[in-house]
Amino acid sequence: MILVTGGAGYIGSHTVKYLLDEGFEVIAADNLIYGHQKAIDNRAKFVLADLMDMKSLKNLFDNNKIDAVIHFAAFAYVGESVENPEKYYYNNVVGTLNLLQAMLQHNVKKIVFSSTCATYGEPQYTPIDENHPQSPINPYGRTKLMIEQIFADYEKAYGLKHIALRYFNAAGCSNDGRIGESHTPETHLIPLVLQTINGKRDKIKIFGTDYDTPDGTCIRDYIHVEDLASAHCLALHKLDEYSGCINLGTGIGTSVKEIITAAEEVSGKSCPVEIAPRRAGDPARLYADNRKAKELLGWHPKYTNIKEIIRTAWNWEQNKKY
Ligand code: UDP
Repeated sequence: MILVTGGAGYIGSHTVKYLLDEGFEVIAADNLIYGHQKAIDNRAKFVLADLMDMKSLKNLFDNNKIDAVIHFAAFAYVGESVENPEKYYYNNVVGTLNLLQAMLQHNVKKIVFSSTCATYGEPQYTPIDENHPQSPINPYGRTKLMIEQIFADYEKAYGLKHIALRYFNAAGCSNDGRIGESHTPETHLIPLVLQTINGKRDKIKIFGTDYDTPDGTCIRDYIHVEDLASAHCLALHKLDEYSGCINLGTGIGTSVKEIITAAEEVSGKSCPVEIAPRRAGDPARLYADNRKAKELLGWHPKYTNIKEIIRTAWNWEQNKKY
């Protein structure tokens, strides 16, 4: 039985579905602060639980035979983490410590963790490989780095097997249209562009056109959420023989303007834009060296064409279920 914390969230819910399709038994735990109960596949067992509440965690482990954990549950708004770091350090770091305590008390020693390229901070070179120095520039990124460091210490002391997956920009929605991305507030580029095209917003602001990139806008590595899900499943299988970190990205960089053009082509509609100042803390270029994921996990992203990724998100935007 696999416990998925944050199983009602965007990446968590897609991973729950993927694991079920692969034949795993899954418990999805979520406090539903940001998650959506409707996002949880009805083949999974759902448990309302909060990592800040040791009692609900203890019950979860007492009442279920858990073999391994995939840990998504976290707050993930970078801007909010700057405004209110306490919320992030408590929930993300203390929440993970609580989870680890419950795991070790129940002799569960395998965890796959939702980490982020934000742990690298301002890139010193691209593509970014796993040996790139980690120097996060906001509290959100620091919480994820701290957790990676905690895992390494827990492995030495308690034998905790762990794989931290450092995601680049998660994007797209389930190919069957049943689940998708639904954040409140929404801050991510692709859903905002598609909402604008769909008439729910007046325009999309492009945060900076004066970067040192071919079209002046920021370049990111957009990875389809189902490719993230498949990597979590492969990582689960690898935990017996490997602990460490692995980047998850396509290795392909796409600019903000290229995203907008691709979304216009996919939808057949135009997207009103406004040129706005740079957003604080946005590096010009972020894209992954993904060789380790391919070589170690045998992972291959199915989606390498940004229009195909956006097509799944556009399908969701037009038929959102939650
Ligand atoms: N971006 C933008 N306008 C928006 C939201 C995002 O120009 O309304 C840009 C942002 O500056 C970054 C890219 O789109 O270069 C992706 O941003 P997002 O917030 O989706 O992900 P992040 O890279 O911050 O994790």
